[in-house]
Amino acid sequence: MPESQPLIEQIILHPIAMQLVESLQTSGWHDSFRPAVLVEIHAGGQIGWGESVAGWTPGYSYETIGTTLHILSDFIIPALIGKPIAQPYITPQFRGHPMAKSAIDMALADLTARLAGKALADDGEKRRHNRVEVGVSIGIHPTIDETIAIIDKRLNEGYRRIKLKIKPKWDIELLREVRRQYPHILLMVDANSAYTSEHMTTLQKFDEFGLLMIEQPLGYDDIYQHSLLQPHLDTPICLDESIHSVDDARLAIELGACRIINLKISRVGGIHKALALHAYCLSMGVPMWIGGMLETGIGRAANLIVGGLPGVTLPSDISATSRYYDPDITDEVFTLNAEDSTIDVPSGPGLGVTVNRERLAAAEAAFNEFPKSAFMGPSA
Ligand code: MG
Repeated sequence: MPESQPLIEQIILHPIAMQLVESLQTSGWHDSFRPAVLVEIHAGGQIGWGESVAGWTPGYSYETIGTTLHILSDFIIPALIGKPIAQPYITPQFRGHPMAKSAIDMALADLTARLAGKALADDGEKRRHNRVEVGVSIGIHPTIDETIAIIDKRLNEGYRRIKLKIKPKWDIELLREVRRQYPHILLMVDANSAYTSEHMTTLQKFDEFGLLMIEQPLGYDDIYQHSLLQPHLDTPICLDESIHSVDDARLAIELGACRIINLKISRVGGIHKALALHAYCLSMGVPMWIGGMLETGIGRAANLIVGGLPGVTLPSDISATSRYYDPDITDEVFTLNAEDSTIDVPSGPGLGVTVNRERLAAAEAAFNEFPKSAFMGPSA
């Protein structure tokens, strides 16, 4: 390590739109774009990359492409330019906006590791896995038959864990048919807060389907109502949207609101915050897995690096690149090891990925060119 860290010379924001191979939902097949903001940080002759996964609309969280650009350009970037690289990066004077902050934290982590000539995956003393067990998430489709056909396709590709998006009236009948056809697959559901405590009877019926977990059945910012629900279910509740910090996780675990935590780098404000949440869950014996937000190769690499940590014992929502982008923004593509439903942790310098400048220019042009109505929100 040099005695003084290099100064942050330049931070460039790249709003992009990436054409999805398949939309995760039913509307807009073949014409949906995933917008994102990429962050490029220059220091000491190296470049680090980060990604904000906020959507065009405030659907998954309050953050959007617009708020990301605003918070980064007007506040965070002016606070960092000309300063020495600090790890972890902290701007406590600015509240909220974890996805915007996560993009900066990711780029600085990438840059710091590159300056040290190391892979991020090699950082730290914790024993890591070289492969991350992964599953696939299947959106809401018009019919049960169509959903079954997609499950069939994914199982044939080698994915061993299937996650189904559900909502009231798209649940029991669907699960009954899926279980009739696939009695033994690893199956879970994600409600993205579509239920209320009024749905207790329906949610209790899920117990008969042998699910790995029910993800975020109740309010997107709720912990208390989940703590009232969990004792009435055999199926573990996993919290996603509600967990923004170690304090949230502590509250959820101590109240018995969930038995599993979805560890999502962008939702908690960056790799360092995710590592703190990971350490807490590991100390409490709470199983974890990595949630996905339709990341490009940059965010996907970060997810795999965190996914390789011990304690991430459940299959993560990190599918192969080919399921999302063809081509991706990075030269590297992540492929599924079909023999064990895993993806390799990147081992190159930093995040282990290289941004393709030609494709970056095309994705920036697409952001400006296409009507924003074609942009998909994240559906994680
Ligand atoms: Mg989720």
